[in-house]
Amino acid sequence: MNRIVRDFKQAQKLKDHLAVVVGAGRSGLSAARLLLALGARVRLADANPDLPPEVRDRFGPEVEIVTGEHLPEHFRDADIVVLSPGVAVRRLGRALNAVPERKVVAELELASWFVEAPIVAVTGTNGKTTTCTLISRILAEAGKKVFTGGNIGTPLCQYLLEDEPAEVLVLEASSFQLQNCRLFKPNIGLLLNFSANHLDYHRDMDEYLQAKLNLFARQSESDTAILPEELRGLLEAREFTRARKIYFRPTERFACPGLVGEHNRANIEAAWQAVKALGVDQDTAARAVAGFKALTHRLQALGEKRGVLFVDDSKATTPEAMAAAVKSFDRPVRLLAGGVFKGGDLAALIPTLRGRVAEIGLFGGAREVFESALSRDFDLFWEPDLSAAARRLFQNAAAGDVILLSPATASFDQYSSYAERGDDFQRLYRELS
Ligand code: ADP
Repeated sequence: MNRIVRDFKQAQKLKDHLAVVVGAGRSGLSAARLLLALGARVRLADANPDLPPEVRDRFGPEVEIVTGEHLPEHFRDADIVVLSPGVAVRRLGRALNAVPERKVVAELELASWFVEAPIVAVTGTNGKTTTCTLISRILAEAGKKVFTGGNIGTPLCQYLLEDEPAEVLVLEASSFQLQNCRLFKPNIGLLLNFSANHLDYHRDMDEYLQAKLNLFARQSESDTAILPEELRGLLEAREFTRARKIYFRPTERFACPGLVGEHNRANIEAAWQAVKALGVDQDTAARAVAGFKALTHRLQALGEKRGVLFVDDSKATTPEAMAAAVKSFDRPVRLLAGGVFKGGDLAALIPTLRGRVAEIGLFGGAREVFESALSRDFDLFWEPDLSAAARRLFQNAAAGDVILLSPATASFDQYSSYAERGDDFQRLYRELS
């Protein structure tokens, strides 16, 4: 257990306080364990009425579990409410009416109160996982003991429960989490980019941007804010941080055969600015970057069949990620798209896609959204599922083409996650002769 958690526990500051943790996923369960360790009474609230029995089995009677619709009586007596990363505060609606806003915190916020080591925190609409991983690899190359987590991998609460202190923490922060941060103050904060996303949860773009900028709100002059050059105008018009600001843009500074596309050159540059602020030299960074491979389901090249390259970019859940993927190839793209559309302007992408996209194979949901935006400009067909659409694209493809799964959507119409969707595509690739 982390040293500060141990001290805090001894001080019994949370003894007899009631903490309500919302969401019984990995982060929520870690938060519940941390709060128990700190002496709090814990109530775990999950909207799923059929919570897997393992969740109940993990805890004894010291944790009260409430499932199904969130109700005001689940929260009214709470001293603190801790939200899992995937929980948008708006989703809780009137259930939180009786709880003062200051008592509602993100899991990331709660955990950050107990962290001593420097924190690098990454947010943005696209590229967070890739950039966090890049930063961590470079820091590891520089000999640092790194913890990488937050929204990806291990929750920060879990890190505190283990006794493996890191010299630097690299954390991925979602806008939902940032909306409920009060004191969270990374030494280095990165905003990679910003475009329409999660508008089904956030009231509007301004609220979404405000949530992202909350990452920088409590930084001081000795901290660093790394920001995209393309947003300089928008950002300079606001007062959102006291930190030293560094604007980045894509460069050719590092060779990285494993990461294609201009957007990845931007991610690499952002990662470099972060590690540079921590004192890493450029040669060390270059070594780590040179050996970096695309992460699974993120513009991951699977190989060729009949001279047709297959690329799995199932993680592309926004139109911008799809456009970034299409731009990354200088060969004709046969694009696989469709699923649960989260928002954004598909028609605005037409100039980017034109001349690059030879054909679009739609599958599953959001058929009308794609057809109405793109059918005038592109050859386009629809099939009920990914496999049928991919096979049809492969039939039409010529040697030299790319079949690119970059769906610009969430996967929940047909899959449990983007990873399952990507795995399905990879299975199909292996089966094709
Ligand atoms: P996140 O963790 O923010 O979802 P990932 O690194 O998992 O980001 O990448 C998600 C998707 O976004 C992938 O399809 C990836 O190719 C794409 N992507 C990565 N970086 C960028 C960027 N800077 N701009 C647009 N799309 C990007």
